[in-house]
Amino acid sequence: MSIAIYPGSFDPVTNGHLDIIKRSSKMFDKLVIGVLSNNAKTPLFSVKERVNMLEEVTKSLSNVEIQMFEGLTVDFARNVGATVMVRGLRAISDFDYELQIAQTNHILLPGTDTVFLATSLEYAFLSSTTVKEVAYYGADISKFVPASVEEKIMSKFQDLKNKSTAKERVTDEQ
Ligand code: ADP
Repeated sequence: MSIAIYPGSFDPVTNGHLDIIKRSSKMFDKLVIGVLSNNAKTPLFSVKERVNMLEEVTKSLSNVEIQMFEGLTVDFARNVGATVMVRGLRAISDFDYELQIAQTNHILLPGTDTVFLATSLEYAFLSSTTVKEVAYYGADISKFVPASVEEKIMSKFQDLKNKSTAKERVTDEQ
């Protein structure tokens, strides 16, 4: 049975990720999406929220499962029995970094290979960071993420804005 992992932050999953997920899930018997929980940056969504969003948007894909992981991607690959790691390439700017990681991973776990999928043209510009920035300033992100993710982003920003408003009120009262 061929098992591949697709590791990433997915903060949150975008239509670009989903495109890679759909295409790569056809190439392997099983695709395990690995959601990295030990990011250097503080993510907008907790790892549990990111896993839940991915579960929602991949529920029609029967050979796709979602797991969170910490630490090295090669250890995650070993744990799930994967021999392939899938990564998406958007632009030449992704290439240097991805090549370095792929070569390192190949040395760390010689039985595995990284497979790169070129992004579909319509998603070449798309990143989780862009989506968050656009959403933060109130613009429409419906072309960039699935509807269920759009709702989660909007309510997350609403929560955060409410919290800071609440904080300001407390400060004002003191
Ligand atoms: P990471 O923090 O590991 O880069 P991301 O969630 O940003 O995690 O991305 C996970 C993978 O998906 C990476 O291989 C990235 O290049 C790829 N990816 C992200 N956005 C797109 C997109 N729009 N089209 C194709 N691949 C993408």
